[in-house]
Amino acid sequence: MEYEVVIGLETHIELDTDSKMFCACDARFFGAEPNTHVCPVCLGMPGAMPVINKRAVEFTIMVGLALNCSIARHTFWERKSYWYPDLPKGYQISQYQRPLCYDGWIDVDVRDVASGVWQEQAERRRIRIRRAHLEEDTGKLTHAGAYSYVDYNRSGVPLIEIVTEPDIRSADEAYAYLSALQQIVRYLGVSSADMEKGAMRCEPNMSLRPKGSQDFGVKVEIKNLNSLRAVRDAIAYEIERQTRILRAGGTIKQVTLGWDEARGVTVVQREKESAHDYRYFPEPDLPPLEISEAWLEAIRARMPELALSRQDRYRRDYGLSAYDASVLTAERAVADWFESALAAFAADDGRLAQRAKTVANWVQTEVFRLMKANGLSPSQINDIKVRPAQLADLLRLVEQGTINNNTAKFVLEDMFATGANAAEIVQAKGLAQMSDVEALRQIVNQVIAANPQQVAQVRAGQEKVFGFLVGQAMKATKGKGNAQIINQLLREAIAAADDLPAQG
Ligand code: ADP
Ligand code: MG
Ligand code: ZN
Repeated sequence: MEYEVVIGLETHIELDTDSKMFCACDARFFGAEPNTHVCPVCLGMPGAMPVINKRAVEFTIMVGLALNCSIARHTFWERKSYWYPDLPKGYQISQYQRPLCYDGWIDVDVRDVASGVWQEQAERRRIRIRRAHLEEDTGKLTHAGAYSYVDYNRSGVPLIEIVTEPDIRSADEAYAYLSALQQIVRYLGVSSADMEKGAMRCEPNMSLRPKGSQDFGVKVEIKNLNSLRAVRDAIAYEIERQTRILRAGGTIKQVTLGWDEARGVTVVQREKESAHDYRYFPEPDLPPLEISEAWLEAIRARMPELALSRQDRYRRDYGLSAYDASVLTAERAVADWFESALAAFAADDGRLAQRAKTVANWVQTEVFRLMKANGLSPSQINDIKVRPAQLADLLRLVEQGTINNNTAKFVLEDMFATGANAAEIVQAKGLAQMSDVEALRQIVNQVIAANPQQVAQVRAGQEKVFGFLVGQAMKATKGKGNAQIINQLLREAIAAADDLPAQG
């Protein structure tokens, strides 16, 4: 029997606000001494009063809009009651009945990333988003031998929970969805979404069913996944394990599993307990949340164009490959930089696609190479001394024939080191190409006259020797001759030499 996997993902993302969700404590706690970013509110002291972080609400609405969700105009906070040492209040302030964002979707391009081979063709899949609500994070427990330690720095940090419908059908799709989600929140600038640091945490729910069946099978939930790869590996492992059990006539138990990264296996954390009763009820210490039309519109107006839309546009309008489009849009900073450079290079002459390709090549090869050599990652492109318009100026010098491609690479290196403009460097170092046809014709004629034997060889079909003659002419220009013009003049001169009487 063939089985099909059904996956729904629950993802938590910490918001990168200055302060926490309901108090003024510094929310940027990474690397800080334990329990130094705390106050009576986030420690859950009796009588401490929470205050809503407006920024966190805006960030959540931005995420909701990016996920094509409807935004609730009237909503409220609820207490989710449970006790655990990382939650000193005995309840978490969350949203249950009315999530701030609901009924959305995102499109993702699914590729087999594990193969390590780039696939130009991808399958585009739509994943429905059930809800995205705002809540507060809990503290962090560290277990060491017989003791456990608790750090409340994370307690009260704003957290979005995003839940998909069970629309995902493979480990690769889960991977594609999560990378798309990560890219979206990074584009929006609302979270680092760094899984390794716990800023994005994902719990897949998954079940198997006979292929073609419409029913859902028994689901398991997987926890402790701290990288995109771990999510993909854990799902792939579970598909295999469950398929084996089902084929042998066994049944799947509803359990919560943990992923043991080192061994590459899932381990049972707990068996299905009686259904949780969190006794949700409206938070009496906070007012309901009213989202005005004006506020929503102001947020909508600030939304950037997202990666997938840019990729489609680059491919459609500039004819770039899916690969180029994906590299250029991987980081919003790079995509913005690329678009600024292209805007500065563009002219009204119908050669936009050609120029886009040129800029794309220069960014991906030369600019990235210089950045890498200087220890910069692509996301730091705004830290380099070369401004987008300066790259455009350089490329215009090439297009106009003032310098050739090789010289341009050399000039860019100089621009990268000093921040100077291309034209200044070309002028100061005397790098301008010799494009004057008459001057070059004189040089070519001298080369022809000085090398009658080689000219005869070229005429006899020895193409290699033509390169020698180009080299001679280039040498006479000290490497600055316009190669295209030299080539053309040499061809003309050799052809003309054919008509001359043979010299003794
Ligand atoms: P629970 O109440 O157990 O948390 P939910 O209905 O809230 O379950 O769903 C949690 C996540 O699990 C959602 O992303 C949902 O799409 C997914 N899900 C629900 N049922 C299944 C199933 N049978 N197989 C796979 N995923 C499922
Ligand atoms: Mg749930
Ligand atoms: Zn606090």
